[in-house]
Amino acid sequence: MVIIMKPDASQESIAQICSVVELKGLGTHIVKGAETTIIGLIGDKTKIVDYPFEVMEGVEKVTHISESYKLVNKAFHPEPTVIKFDNGIEIGGKKIVVMAGPCAVENQEMITAAANYVKSAGASFLRGGAYKPRTSPYSFQGLEVDGLKLMYNAKKEAGMLMVTEVINERSLEAAYDYLDIIQIGARNMQNFALLREVGRLHKPVLLKRGLSSTIDEWLNAAEYIMAEGNEEVMLCERGIRTYETATRNTLDLSAVPVLKSKTHLPIIVDPSHGTGKNIYVPSMAKAAVAAGADGLIIEVHPTPKKAVSDGDQSLNFDEFGQLMEKLKIVANAVDREI
Ligand code: PEP
Ligand code: MN
Repeated sequence: MVIIMKPDASQESIAQICSVVELKGLGTHIVKGAETTIIGLIGDKTKIVDYPFEVMEGVEKVTHISESYKLVNKAFHPEPTVIKFDNGIEIGGKKIVVMAGPCAVENQEMITAAANYVKSAGASFLRGGAYKPRTSPYSFQGLEVDGLKLMYNAKKEAGMLMVTEVINERSLEAAYDYLDIIQIGARNMQNFALLREVGRLHKPVLLKRGLSSTIDEWLNAAEYIMAEGNEEVMLCERGIRTYETATRNTLDLSAVPVLKSKTHLPIIVDPSHGTGKNIYVPSMAKAAVAAGADGLIIEVHPTPKKAVSDGDQSLNFDEFGQLMEKLKIVANAVDREI
């Protein structure tokens, strides 16, 4: 349930409502917009089902929310969330952010070369995995702490921020001081203990969609993070499993407008994992921008054929540079910037 206050509602009337709600054993979440204040009620709503909030002072209207996720719900927070970083970069505003880099950190030379190139082409975040949750236990699992250090050196040299995946509490602790965005991978989207852990921290989280998750499950996973207090969550569509085998996954671009109608959180699209083949990446990246994505995360490798992981879906430097030029045109057409 959300209680929408009149534009001229006083602080006292807001406090009065909150104290009634809290006395009934529920929590409140207050969002102050430019014009109105919205009070979101969190908890077992059967306890207040008949309470006449409508007639209380300052109340404009009361809306019931049927979805199980509240804090991520657009009804709770109608304005889009904009995540701000120290260097002035914002995610969720007019400018579309690009995160780019290799699937995995392999050595200093390649991660530094990738960082310098993608930065010069317009990317603001360096992506790269130091902890790789691979399908086979015998595949390369990442350089772990050494990989984090190499990536950190590269991001500093290039003047970028970095996004990297954590897979459990131990890797989260190791990576925390190096990273700027905590990536929760598709395979961990419903690792609720890990979601609660990152929810207690104060760094933005990129939550990838689970391999076979519905949008509703995904939004509930984001709710786990927000319910612990971390409000800086972005959602990343990375393709889902369908019967189609021509692509690695089926990139669900309709998720972008669907999410825009349901949540205020920024939306990022990953056309690399979404398609699994580098030749399809540019089309889907452009389509994602046209569909309203707030950002892209793209795999780029100096020599994709030699990559230790996901070489088939990685762009080389020239391909990425050309794509960035095209993305500017698409962004302009939908009143955004890159
Ligand atoms: C990745 O981004 O490197 C990755 C492993 O992606 P996903 O979790 O979407 O498979
Ligand atoms: Mn990858």
